[in-house]
Amino acid sequence: MLLIQKDMVVSVHYELQVEHDGNMTVADKSQDQPLVFIHGAGMLLPEFEQNLAGKTVGDSVSFTIKAENGYGVHDEKNIAHIPAESFHDENGKIDTEMVKVGNVLPMMDNDGNQFQGIVVEVNDDNVVMDFNHPLAGKDLNFSVTVADVRPATAEEIEHGHVHGPGGHHH
Ligand code: ZN
Repeated sequence: MLLIQKDMVVSVHYELQVEHDGNMTVADKSQDQPLVFIHGAGMLLPEFEQNLAGKTVGDSVSFTIKAENGYGVHDEKNIAHIPAESFHDENGKIDTEMVKVGNVLPMMDNDGNQFQGIVVEVNDDNVVMDFNHPLAGKDLNFSVTVADVRPATAEEIEHGHVHGPGGHHH
């Protein structure tokens, strides 16, 4: 029976719940295929891996990762007031189908870096966008079931990713 530790390839089914407007909602979950990762390779949140250390196939664990150890706290600095003109089309109008509260828009900074932001407010002067990670400020409540554990091959450790089912094919 193999226990989860560094350099094991681990397959898990998981569900992530966060609180949203006072209710617990599912933010993410594995579908038919499990999530497959190399333990200790730094692919996942460190606390996620720590909570699975020593577990084996069939084990289920539930744990909470505080926001500051997850996707960070919600930072006001990541909220931008962008002049409405920036969103004007050739007719000097905002496309209100696209630029509306709750929509996620791809944006580019002056250096050409792409960001995703969510529209939180649209007024005559500004479009207010939040560039925080969608799960910033959220405590992450995970339920995880271990589906498979096997040693990583030397090649997988060298590449830093899993080969075969759930991983890279090359
Ligand atoms: Zn590879």
